[in-house]
Amino acid sequence: MVVDIINPYAVAVTQFDEAAERLGLSRSMRNILRAPKRELIVNFPVRLDNGDVQMYTGYRVQHNINRGPAKGGIRFSPEVSLDEVRALAMWMTWKCAVVDIPFGGAKGGVICDPHQMSRGELERLSRRYATEISILMGPNSDIPAPDMNTNPQIMAWMMDTYSMHQGYSVPATITGKPLAIGGSEGRLDATARGVQVVTKAAMRHLDMTPENSSVVIQGFGNVGGITARLLHESGCKVIGLSDISGGVYNPRGIDVPMAMRFSREHGSLRGLPGTEPVTNRELLELPCDILIPAALENQLTKENAGRVQARLVVEAANGPTNVEGDRILNENGIMVVPDILANAGGVTVSYFEWVQDLQHFFWSENEINQRLEAIMTRAFNAVMAKAVAQDTHLRMGAYLLAVSRVAEATELRGIYP
Ligand code: NAD
Repeated sequence: MVVDIINPYAVAVTQFDEAAERLGLSRSMRNILRAPKRELIVNFPVRLDNGDVQMYTGYRVQHNINRGPAKGGIRFSPEVSLDEVRALAMWMTWKCAVVDIPFGGAKGGVICDPHQMSRGELERLSRRYATEISILMGPNSDIPAPDMNTNPQIMAWMMDTYSMHQGYSVPATITGKPLAIGGSEGRLDATARGVQVVTKAAMRHLDMTPENSSVVIQGFGNVGGITARLLHESGCKVIGLSDISGGVYNPRGIDVPMAMRFSREHGSLRGLPGTEPVTNRELLELPCDILIPAALENQLTKENAGRVQARLVVEAANGPTNVEGDRILNENGIMVVPDILANAGGVTVSYFEWVQDLQHFFWSENEINQRLEAIMTRAFNAVMAKAVAQDTHLRMGAYLLAVSRVAEATELRGIYP
């Protein structure tokens, strides 16, 4: 793993500042858009199975809600920090604006290690955290979703907790729920499907064809695993995969459905037949056409970006490239499809789930996938057009588009009072 001790909020603000400068935003507008609107810190007790009571700290940050209710996932991890949640909330604001869905940005997290907790402890933690942040939550105010180490079951507990407080069911207050209680068809695959749409669009732009394109993917979870499957189905040759236990490599191509079965049965990709092991660090530097970081932040940095051999990097994870890494990739002429565009498929289908819950009227998987493809294609084309018109790279194109949309909404609404 590549470790770079860089504050993700500093990265997010630096990216914003560059876009604001280029857009010529006024000092007042920059100050408004730089600052998170609300930051809630909660310290709360959870009873453990052995009878002890443990205190936990959680956060919910709303960055900007001028374009609509706050939207963003909840992360359970020992590494959660207020600055990480702030950064992720700001990225959510830009992500919703880039795909032009009517939400503002938010994020939440609890400092905990869910792998060390029983199901009962996890349920009590989830319900108590939902209670603590319920002063912000609501279908018109703040709509959480899953993120790292949270899942549809946890969303179900949180939806139930919020609904118990209201006295009636409020499915539209959280997305990523199981289908049986107002979840959406296609939600599980949505982020990866969006990654597939923008990858294929970028490939067309670079005159790359699936049959002549090799792909390396870091991370084999919800996003990385399904992206691998979809690109494999599209005819690309997936040659490298990894999870937290390390990477596997076969330059002739990996049988992705077999890798998925193997990972399910053995708990990791380690020892996948027909592959040679590589470290996660080596994986990022393998000879390939397309590199897809789909695990965690700060993976492409000044330490290794110069050795990336791919022509195209698609950021399925949030914040996988830091500012220095990004500069090096750009200097080397590598096209980078930025996270706020590449992984926006998840929030887009969350938006569909919210709309369906509010209308109590549900769409078929086919309708979901078609609408998702239309929105992701429209967003990719708009970002590409902006980047070409401004003679810049796709990340700046995406930021220029997103920040100008949020700035316009802020300008139109004016300053209260
Ligand atoms: P996940 O927990 O399902 O999977 C994460 C994967 O990364 C696992 O395979 C894990 O083994 C691997 N991993 C963890 N640490 C690693 C390391 N040090 N080196 C290599 N691999 C490592 O998570 P996910 O939902 O797939 O999310 C992955 C990324 O995508 C995150 O950055 C997340 O914020 C982002 N994202 C997810 C969604 C979504 O809908 N799930 C939407 C937008 C963005």
